[in-house]
Amino acid sequence: MKAKELYRMPKDYVTRRNDTEYGLLETFEYESTTTGTTRKANIILPAGYDESKQYPILYLLHGIGGDHNEWLGADPVTVIGNLVADDEASEMIVVMPNVRARANDVGNPSDIYSVEHFQAFDNFINELQTDLMPYMEKNYAVKTGRENTAIAGLSMGGREALYIGLTMADTFGYVGAFCPAPGVLPYDVEPGLFEKEEFVPAGGYEPFIMIAEGDSDNVVSSWPSTYHKTLEENGVSHTYYITEGGHDFKVWTNGLYNFAERIFKTRDEKGMGMKDIDPNKPVVALTFDDGPNCTTTCEVLDKLEQYGVTATFFLIGDNITPQTETVVKRTYDMGNEIANHSKSHLDMTKLSEEEIRNEVTSVSEQIEAITGETPKFFRPPYILVNDNMYGNIDLTFICGAGCEDWVEDVSAKQRAKTTLDQVQDGMIILLHDFEGNSKTVEALDEIIPGLQERGYQFVTVSQLFEIKNVEINGKDKNLYTCLE
Ligand SMILES: [Zn+2]
Repeated sequence: MKAKELYRMPKDYVTRRNDTEYGLLETFEYESTTTGTTRKANIILPAGYDESKQYPILYLLHGIGGDHNEWLGADPVTVIGNLVADDEASEMIVVMPNVRARANDVGNPSDIYSVEHFQAFDNFINELQTDLMPYMEKNYAVKTGRENTAIAGLSMGGREALYIGLTMADTFGYVGAFCPAPGVLPYDVEPGLFEKEEFVPAGGYEPFIMIAEGDSDNVVSSWPSTYHKTLEENGVSHTYYITEGGHDFKVWTNGLYNFAERIFKTRDEKGMGMKDIDPNKPVVALTFDDGPNCTTTCEVLDKLEQYGVTATFFLIGDNITPQTETVVKRTYDMGNEIANHSKSHLDMTKLSEEEIRNEVTSVSEQIEAITGETPKFFRPPYILVNDNMYGNIDLTFICGAGCEDWVEDVSAKQRAKTTLDQVQDGMIILLHDFEGNSKTVEALDEIIPGLQERGYQFVTVSQLFEIKNVEINGKDKNLYTCLE
């Protein structure tokens, strides 16, 4: 599909509907210690705003001559209201501040194209951190955390969104830049906010980044595509598209629509949805055994988050403690699947029927208590199975292609090589996230990009069964490694 079609905005999204309740637009004032003045901002509270709930928040930044009112030109109340009503966007609080962070913050000032004026915009990062974000969190029902916090802007506001979003990547999970202005990178007038090779999100985070460019924009010329190419050169995943329009609200409204539609997704929307899977491309299911713990498991999750992929985790019941429960929750909330690897990791072929049942049911109950979902899959400890186990465990047995990643002497490189050498469409890859298994964490930096280069899509084990049309049947006596 052509980018223009993919990022097309239905015309009626800027039109109010009779049957839809829209958000409430208000102007508020706050004290800025950064500028030493009282400053104005606009806010849109979602329809039916309820202080006992918590909402994700989008900071929307204006351009060089504008102020807190400029974004009203895109009618964000209507655009976002329609998206939410159609279930295409999450309910959110939208804040439109004055980005000119200096005492004289009126729009279209006489020094509009001076470096000093540009620097007032660059100073907004300080006000945001020191004054505005704390004010928002104190006075409104704001859901915190990077997965609930977004920043976007048009033109000069796009420059600042890129600067702030990448610098504060631990705070912002989503960054949108619509016709972003020059100055993010060095150019003839300014030294730039990042050196070319340093134009990456701080701290190893991978925020969702979206850059939109107008096909007849004569104001910021090729800067949007330069930012896109630089991110590409630096290996930063992002979305970039060209749409019809100049340096105007045709493009900015389109950007807002497409950005709002893609941010603050829930667990089910975050993982790869079945509709996103291309049946013509190969699939693979990464799986991890022997967690959870607060060290290696978290490092594995960070890697998955960084590369934007999901996996399936087979948990040992004895490792689920009050300390690791939050790790299980995080694993699940990211869109990963949770499965069962027995309570105490024994050779279960030596156990009685009752012992076998106890080893498995208790873990499924623990998992259900945390995630609300009962696991469907079981990985037998040491991949040892017998008829007694098949007869007493009502879960589908999963093996997988391993790379001896439980052997300390097998290097990260070797783990990655074995995995990439043996991979094929429909394969379950068996890895371990037990405490201290840092070589597997390291190997993921080769395994995941290596598979992506080969065109593989990452699915959970449940999705793998669905794609390959294999029934998930707890009664069959199979031990699956690859689904044809
Ligand atoms: Zn194990």
